[in-house]
Amino acid sequence: MEYQHILEEIHTTLQNSPQKGTVASYIPELGKVNADHLGIYLFTLDGKEYGTGHFDIPFSVQSISKVLSLAKALDFVGTDLWKRVDVEPSGNPFNFLTLLELEKGIPRNPFINAGALVISDILLSHLKNPKEDFLNYVRELAEDSSISYNEDVAASEKATGYRNTAAANLLKSFGNMEHNVEDVLDFYFYQCSLSMNCRQLARTFYVFANSGKNVSGKTFLPPGLVKRINAIMLTCGFYDEAGEFAFEVGLPGKSGVGGGIVAVLPGNYCISTWAPGLNEKGNSLLGMQALEMFTTKTKLSIF
Ligand code: GLU
Repeated sequence: MEYQHILEEIHTTLQNSPQKGTVASYIPELGKVNADHLGIYLFTLDGKEYGTGHFDIPFSVQSISKVLSLAKALDFVGTDLWKRVDVEPSGNPFNFLTLLELEKGIPRNPFINAGALVISDILLSHLKNPKEDFLNYVRELAEDSSISYNEDVAASEKATGYRNTAAANLLKSFGNMEHNVEDVLDFYFYQCSLSMNCRQLARTFYVFANSGKNVSGKTFLPPGLVKRINAIMLTCGFYDEAGEFAFEVGLPGKSGVGGGIVAVLPGNYCISTWAPGLNEKGNSLLGMQALEMFTTKTKLSIF
């Protein structure tokens, strides 16, 4: 299939779109990003790569990092993890907080912020140098040592993260947080500040398209875990728009408020997009459209 041609067609159609969405500004540092960027990168399992637009400009992956921290935590604690976090779609925004959701102190899934905070707490128990070790894990997955945190983004979120602080305190009050609230939040903000371009993101998530093996065939996760993580991406990867993403695009994936999306067709490809303008649900407006066009044109989705 002429993948490069298809990506360019999509890029040409969308780059002049009058509706680009709104760049997230609740984390002040994210608000500085230009809404005109649009990058797409495709990595097929036969080892071929295709890119178009701004695929080589790094951006803040934000909630996309939650998939990687979940993978690492599952690696450490296995199915015990599900005693502390559930796997049901929330139908609510990422920062939604109700006592109902936390009725027993068990967040609905690992991709809402409360769930990701529990995952961070688990990782703090198992990583010697949490920030460095997590970064190294991501670098190893992608085989790219240039991937790093964006300290400005981490500091910006730390200075304004009142809702996450509330979530962490609530979890602590329910006994679902072992470490200090401050330490868990600090580690969580760093994970969210991971900075990658579309190519690096597609390389990192290749493991979820390739039954747990990364770009050069090194095993990181057993296929059974990849199946579970992909299922959670499909049902919970897009805030309260996971149904819409499955309906329009038909791939397991994850978005972040930095405007990135990464999605996989297991056994076939990994694709990432970056367009910083978000729709009202917090997902990249043009990124979702690009992926809808891609799976429609190629007829390659899980459905
Ligand atoms: N660091 C962001 C927050 O906790 C992540 C949001 C997202 O990308 O969904 O608010």
